[in-house]
Amino acid sequence: MAPERSAANKPTPVDIMFRSRISSIFGLLAILAASVPRSVAQAPDQREKLPADPQITAALMQVSAQRIQADIEKLVSFQTRLTLSAPDADSIKAGHGIGAAREWIKAEFERYSLDCGGCLEIKTDSFTEAPADRIPRPTVITNVYAVLKGTDPDSSKRIVLVTGHYDSRNSDTFDVTGNAPGANDDASGTAVSLECARVLSKLKFPATIIFLAVAGEEQGLNGSRHFAKMARDQGWNIEAVLNNDIVGGDRNSQQDPGVVRVFSEGVPVAATDAELRLIRNLGGESDSASRQVARYIAEVGRTYQTGVKPLLEFRLDRYLRGGDHISFNQQGYAAVRFTEYREDYHHQHQNVRSENGIEYGDLPKWVNFDYVASVARVNAATLASLASAPAPPMQVRLQTKELENNSTITWAASAGNLSYEILWRATTSPEWEKMQAIGNVTRTTLAMSKDNVIFAVRAVDILGHRSVPVVPQPER
Ligand SMILES: [Zn+2]
Repeated sequence: MAPERSAANKPTPVDIMFRSRISSIFGLLAILAASVPRSVAQAPDQREKLPADPQITAALMQVSAQRIQADIEKLVSFQTRLTLSAPDADSIKAGHGIGAAREWIKAEFERYSLDCGGCLEIKTDSFTEAPADRIPRPTVITNVYAVLKGTDPDSSKRIVLVTGHYDSRNSDTFDVTGNAPGANDDASGTAVSLECARVLSKLKFPATIIFLAVAGEEQGLNGSRHFAKMARDQGWNIEAVLNNDIVGGDRNSQQDPGVVRVFSEGVPVAATDAELRLIRNLGGESDSASRQVARYIAEVGRTYQTGVKPLLEFRLDRYLRGGDHISFNQQGYAAVRFTEYREDYHHQHQNVRSENGIEYGDLPKWVNFDYVASVARVNAATLASLASAPAPPMQVRLQTKELENNSTITWAASAGNLSYEILWRATTSPEWEKMQAIGNVTRTTLAMSKDNVIFAVRAVDILGHRSVPVVPQPER
């Protein structure tokens, strides 16, 4: 049990916005803005930059655009990966259809595992989906995943997960034989899962990482729904799900290859009525567990050189669209979606053809492999940071027994040589603005009103790995 002591004595918070630098940079930016094509990534980022872990920095250098290109072209070579396409032995042998794709993904994971002395456990989650809107007959759907088990007996129960869907489609969701290359949607996301597995399996982490490729996404999120429910039924402690879907950086003239969008739910779909009441009363609409993961990703993007900046989108998904992260949200897990900045709908869910001078189809020639590699780096850095970090603090409470202008926060002591940091931001601010390190305590009182800010607590280990911050629940 860590000693309890109050940290009310003169907080000296670190201002996460390093305002002093801004004036000198502004002049330079004004000149740059006039001469360089506009990119969302060019906005000056003055927020907190945490120290990088040299092991993670080195791993990111291993991410290869050439490997990713080879993965995507291989997935496209199966001609169609429609969930309803032929899964029989002859088709697999001929390298045609979703069965062939599945076997290849499995073999890739097995190859990576051979390279790390059998460090990956390769598994499948196979089930028969009953007929539904986009499933005309009972259909076997198989998710493939590789588990890099954590090295610490306690921490290994904590799981971070990266996923993409390996099924594809063309203009017709029932066309079982027609070409459906799905290079961007979603061989790109599948390649991110594979490349993260290849690079991170060479390292060891206290917590567990799962690299997942699901099927059935285009028929109605069937694969991820089954997987997320299995995880919930078996009590898996998944801290974060990173879903990559359409991360190819489509080569259209309005693309911004400097950013990747990160979608996260605000009010959790799985919130209970009591939780919804608290969210309404206390302004918790932007503090779901998924949103904390999104903020964590933004911070990772500032700490590591990935080649792409996470652009947080405070909504579940794009208009009229959904994805596999939603299946995990529905089971109460924190899950976000990565998607390129500007999609070209001529290159998604389309038969490959040319019409009135427009080329349709989801072909590898539209994919920017360097961009996919950058997105893979953001994912790998996030997975590695979370799998290295201590568990998030538990039972985090904000004392609200009486009216007072100070704020007292308490939490349960965690095992290990940890310290804690309090973060806060204005109720109107998207990201954490201030931080105060408070040492190895389980209680602190800050001389500021809880009515004016949103607080969070995160755990820090001796090497500087930070947990996902946890927003306190009120305690009366
Ligand atoms: Zn997709």
